[in-house]
Amino acid sequence: MAEKNVCTSCNSMLDKVASLLNLNQTEIDVLTIPSRSFTFSFPVIMDDGKTKIFTGYRVQFNSARGPTKGGIRFHPKVDPEEVKTLAFLMTLKCAVTNLPFGGAKGGIIVDPKKLSAGELERLSRRYISTAYKFLGPETDIPAPDVNTNPQVMAWMLDEYERLTGKHQPGMITGKPVELGGSAIREISTSMGGYFTLREIMKDRKMKPEQTTVAIQGFGNVGLNIAKILSDHGYKIIAVSDSKTGIYDLKGLDVRNLMDYKKSKKGFDKLKGVKKITNQKILELKCDVLIPAALGDVITKNNAKNVKAKLILELANHPVTPEADDILGKKKVEIIPDILANAGGVVVSYFEWVQNTSNYYWGRKEVLDKLETQMVTATKEMGRTCKNFKCSMRQALYIQAVNKVLYAERLRGVLK
Ligand code: NAD
Repeated sequence: MAEKNVCTSCNSMLDKVASLLNLNQTEIDVLTIPSRSFTFSFPVIMDDGKTKIFTGYRVQFNSARGPTKGGIRFHPKVDPEEVKTLAFLMTLKCAVTNLPFGGAKGGIIVDPKKLSAGELERLSRRYISTAYKFLGPETDIPAPDVNTNPQVMAWMLDEYERLTGKHQPGMITGKPVELGGSAIREISTSMGGYFTLREIMKDRKMKPEQTTVAIQGFGNVGLNIAKILSDHGYKIIAVSDSKTGIYDLKGLDVRNLMDYKKSKKGFDKLKGVKKITNQKILELKCDVLIPAALGDVITKNNAKNVKAKLILELANHPVTPEADDILGKKKVEIIPDILANAGGVVVSYFEWVQNTSNYYWGRKEVLDKLETQMVTATKEMGRTCKNFKCSMRQALYIQAVNKVLYAERLRGVLK
């Protein structure tokens, strides 16, 4: 029964275009009910010799356009409803960037900072040994997400290959280069975001050197977008980590901050800079605001205080649907997550293509292909915005929904 596996927030996200597209209830169900949702419980032997049971999830949302694809997150707040929402967004993301994939997502409820390296490895391997029958290069392909990295992908690949007895590097992406990973995977999400932002700013005649940027999050995505934008002449006026934000209206020295972060210390310990809370950073006066940490950070409570002209959503769903409406009325334009942060999955797709054909491309080739893919998708969005006189989010949802439903029709699932 549909009610059993419903994704409530997917429904409210789709509401934004359901009437524009005259979707009927069957189409809405096909789009918002995940095909498969797994909950796994598995034991891990901890360093003290005791066994601890962990809970993990994998949602394979829709595979009409190809094998499902999506990251695995390690976080204490992983919850099944959010995993479904993220898998839904992955389905749309792969469609708007024209990738032959459906969407998936996974996670484990865990604070990885509290684990030793050995415990982290055993946890990563156990997730795969529990789930491996449902994964594979032609079925469902995981990747890194919050708190998972190339090393975790390497352990997961090794466990999968140990169990299946075959080399299958295309079963997971975001691997170290030595195991078939892509040369630019680490910067791919931020690079993709940059290409999209550049195109949109060109369209609005905004100049990088006159553009101020505030960034929430200084992890893989936040740090790299800060570096890329600063290298292209943008003025980065604020950045933050989980503990605190720092700001300077004259512009921060991003390379110094990157060096500082190598010490693994938080910005709260950094001397000689002005501090700002993680909430206030979202309300700073700036041209471009980039949420690059967690979801649901701009809500109906703080949306009215946002002063940016443009929001580049590098985190997944950082703006709630209610906040999206408030920002729309304030004429704050949002470059939505399903395009803004799609660079990661685009390069994952390239990695999968190289793994499955055993032919590897150089760094420049991957970067050029990423640029082409992102610029094409951004232009396609621009045309839909004009045709439907709608926001960027509505345009992307219209495109993605049409592509997924068309694939379902071709398969005979829908008439
Ligand atoms: P990460 O773990 O490398 O970095 C997360 C950053 O957020 C860190 O700087 C951390 O200090 C900060 N943070 C943690 N809790 C916070 C809080 N409560 N308030 C403010 N900041 C906080 O993760 P990442 O890979 O950079 O991912 C960041 C976001 O981008 C996530 O929403 C993720 O889903 C999304 N994303 C990542 C990729 C990718 O390729 N890594 C691709 C698409 C989307």
